[in-house]
Amino acid sequence: MTFRSLRWRIASFYIALLIGVIIVVAAVLAVQLRSLLLDEARAKITRVGGDIAQLVRGDSALSAIGDTAPIAQELTATGALDHWAGPTTFVEIDTPQGYPIAKSTNMGGASFAPTIPTQRDPVVYSTENRPPLGSLLVRSELVTYPGSALIVAVGESLEVYDDTLLRIRDLLLAVIVVALLVVVAGSFAIAKSALDPIKRLSAAMGEIRSDRLSRRLGWSRRRDELGTLAAAFDAMLDRLEEGFARERQFISDASHELKTPLTVINANAQMLERWAARDPAVRDDSIAAIRDESAALANMVNGMLLLAKAESGEDIPRERVALEGIVAEAIGATRGRANDKGLELAYQPSPSATRAAVLGDAGLLRQLVTNLIDNAIKFTKRGRIDVTVEVESGEARAVIAVADTGSGIDEQSLGRIFDRFYRTDASRNRAIPGTGLGLAIVRSIARVHGGTVTAARRPGGGSEFRVSLPMLTTFQ
Ligand code: ADP
Repeated sequence: MTFRSLRWRIASFYIALLIGVIIVVAAVLAVQLRSLLLDEARAKITRVGGDIAQLVRGDSALSAIGDTAPIAQELTATGALDHWAGPTTFVEIDTPQGYPIAKSTNMGGASFAPTIPTQRDPVVYSTENRPPLGSLLVRSELVTYPGSALIVAVGESLEVYDDTLLRIRDLLLAVIVVALLVVVAGSFAIAKSALDPIKRLSAAMGEIRSDRLSRRLGWSRRRDELGTLAAAFDAMLDRLEEGFARERQFISDASHELKTPLTVINANAQMLERWAARDPAVRDDSIAAIRDESAALANMVNGMLLLAKAESGEDIPRERVALEGIVAEAIGATRGRANDKGLELAYQPSPSATRAAVLGDAGLLRQLVTNLIDNAIKFTKRGRIDVTVEVESGEARAVIAVADTGSGIDEQSLGRIFDRFYRTDASRNRAIPGTGLGLAIVRSIARVHGGTVTAARRPGGGSEFRVSLPMLTTFQ
């Protein structure tokens, strides 16, 4: 386990978060508590200081009775201030210049720092540290009375408050340590339970090879994000396995299809070798056979290359293609062959045809239409071939249709004619030239453009092929 692992990162994130939260809470708590305790101390010394000041000014009930000695003098007598002092409260009387003249006994030899309030600002609060009294909040008041003035200083020890704060700090520290332990253990446990499946997933991925695609995770019972990931992984393997199987099938079919013309070429070459000099008829037949078969071979290889291109998907150029123009070009390229067979090849314009445009490769789309028309010509003896282009209601899809009055396609073959190398028995038996790749190419071209192709038998005989493609929207 390295420090850069997710597990560490998750754990350290939670630890940092916790420490941050605790520090903020502790700081807020300490500040609040301190101000609360200070308020309490301040209230206490204000009360005591106020009492003494009242007495000194002579407006208290005590002096009103007519006490003989001036109260200020009385207060400076030893132990007189103890009446106001307490275990945490200290009292001192100073001259207006700040020299101590009397103290409560509990102050011992210590005295407050000289703080001299003025007439304008007669009450001053200060915090100070006076050993051995410790830290104190001191209220000094300048009290004037007929004939003189003195300073009444009352100090409240903050030690007890500081002790409380210290105890709270220790408690917080203990909480931090325990919380840290819990968070470290908890986040490691959570991270482990979350990341272990990922480990297993990467191990499973490492085992996948093109010849070992049958491995599946099968975590269908997991309902969380990792279950979704595992399901996506299994589905990807399904597709890969299917794709590899299709490729293997293609290679085997292609080799088989290429073998037939090659065998014929080879046999005829041997015939030529043996008989060419002696029998001109054999020679001519053999040369003709070699020419035809090598042309078929070239056709097949071209078809395979085209199929590979149509299936490459992402690499094809994407430009705006007007379908009417493509159809016109395909009809132009095939009209000669239709005429040779005495077939009428016509484009049936529809009102929406001019709007029919898709995003894609013009060359491939032309090939798609040409293949459909070529087939229609090949499998139609007499009659006509009609090509239409229209936009479906909703303007989402455009449809190119090629209909003929030919042999039609039997029900069983309808589902298979788009397979690679598939040719109906009828076309094989009648030795109609072909590779069985034409419609596979049509389907691949439709697919890379996000479209579909369907074939149907026409009620009056003949076939109709419909290619439906997503329209180019104005936003694309
Ligand atoms: P190919 O034309 O080279 O044989 P395709 O893939 O183009 O291969 O067509 C597959 C088969 O589908 C053809 O062999 C033929 O049997 C049938 N087919 C295709 N188009 C038509 C059509 N317009 N009418 C009748 N049958 C057709």
